Amino acid sequence: MSDNVKYVLEENRLPRAWYNINADLPAPLAPVLHPGTREPVEAADLEPLFPRAIIDQELSQEREVEIPDPVRDVYRQWRPAPLYRARRLEKALDTPARIYYKYEGVSPTGSHKPNTAIPQAFYNQAEGVKRITTETGAGQWGSSLALAGSMYGLDIEVYMVGVSYRQKPYRRAFMESFGARCIASPSEQTAFGRSVLAEDPESTGSLGIAIGEAVEMATQRDDTKYALGSVLNHVLLHQTVTGLEAMEQLAMADDYPDTVVACTGGGSNFAGIVFPFLGEQLRGGRAVEAIAVEPLACPTLTQGRFAYDYGDSAQLTPLTKMHTLGSGFVPPGFHAGGLRYHGMAAQISHLKDLGYLDARAYDQLDCFAAGLRFARAEGVIPAPEANHAVKAVIEEAERCREAGESKAILFNLCGHGNFDMQAYTDYLAGKLTNLGGSQAEVAMALSGLPSVER
Ligand SMILES: *Cc1c(COP(=O)(O)O)cnc(C)c1O
Repeated sequence: MSDNVKYVLEENRLPRAWYNINADLPAPLAPVLHPGTREPVEAADLEPLFPRAIIDQELSQEREVEIPDPVRDVYRQWRPAPLYRARRLEKALDTPARIYYKYEGVSPTGSHKPNTAIPQAFYNQAEGVKRITTETGAGQWGSSLALAGSMYGLDIEVYMVGVSYRQKPYRRAFMESFGARCIASPSEQTAFGRSVLAEDPESTGSLGIAIGEAVEMATQRDDTKYALGSVLNHVLLHQTVTGLEAMEQLAMADDYPDTVVACTGGGSNFAGIVFPFLGEQLRGGRAVEAIAVEPLACPTLTQGRFAYDYGDSAQLTPLTKMHTLGSGFVPPGFHAGGLRYHGMAAQISHLKDLGYLDARAYDQLDCFAAGLRFARAEGVIPAPEANHAVKAVIEEAERCREAGESKAILFNLCGHGNFDMQAYTDYLAGKLTNLGGSQAEVAMALSGLPSVER
């Protein structure tokens, strides 16, 4: 095997199509239900929120969905993204495992999110939309949509989870630099925000609340649509560009992963790296072990219920069958803001239910410790979210050492942590604590699940 540790694809190897796992699912997804009628939603129900091209992708069963040339042109600014073999980490762990990581920190916002922000803005602009509303947790998604909005001349309005808005002033400046408007959620701008504040003036906010506000604003104006940075089928579809590239890069390395690992907030970076490989398996090809990693303080896949639930706390969105902690669940304020969502992508929940993937949950101190081991070996400080994947990878690699097992592990290093220095400051100062699993709160939020007969 070559000693090369960085696998770079020629520009002309940038994928021409995204991969849609709906085409290969062994059983179809449960239908998404209208929140009022509780009948399966139709394309027309989604039109107030999304452009038609996005709705088509959301409902598509086609295996390959063409990436428009103008989107590929923008992707080319940082894609194909590099794949690295983590030789120095392997050595530090004294493991026979081969560890590879796909590095999405090379994007202009430092994470995988522009992979979907760019096409979403493109399709909105193509259909005459002028303004997009959205939510953001830690600020990664808002930053990426702000970037995309500036490229396509769209007004972007971002409802940012209040606690993050106050913790991360640089993120807000980043969005405003691209011309976006950033509003702390819950806000006085929406009826839903006002109702939350009336009940709890000190509310820290949550993704579910911010989504409720963004959706409310989008439905009020004809020239305004809404965009979501994770969870939905079309978002997971757009992210598969990472796994498709990684597949080619591993072929350059003459290797194939036995295990693929990613952290899961709503599931998009996980789907992006895992689905192309899982698709091979579902079509009768080589099997992979897929591991989803989440925070113990927001344990959607490991402790949530697989049931119909709303995507937001305002209960405005359609009902989706997914792993959920309940749309009223407000996780404690840990530092991996991107992993604080109460639900999980329907496609990932479905595949978990069918036994095609494993999930693990870790507490935050263990994840930061793992992230620093990675940083000191590989020279990249991971985003706090990505530390969850790193923690699972190190655990696997150490298990391989004990068992004398040689295998290939691939993970998605979905973002760098250069904007998250407050988190690292707190960790290094010994100010972070483990949060444990908030079982009582999970139970309480789950008791509020809507009852859907199906
Ligand atoms: C948003 C984000 C996540 C969580 O979202 P997924 O859809 O689960 O990928 C994870 N990592 C980073 C760096 C993020 O920005």
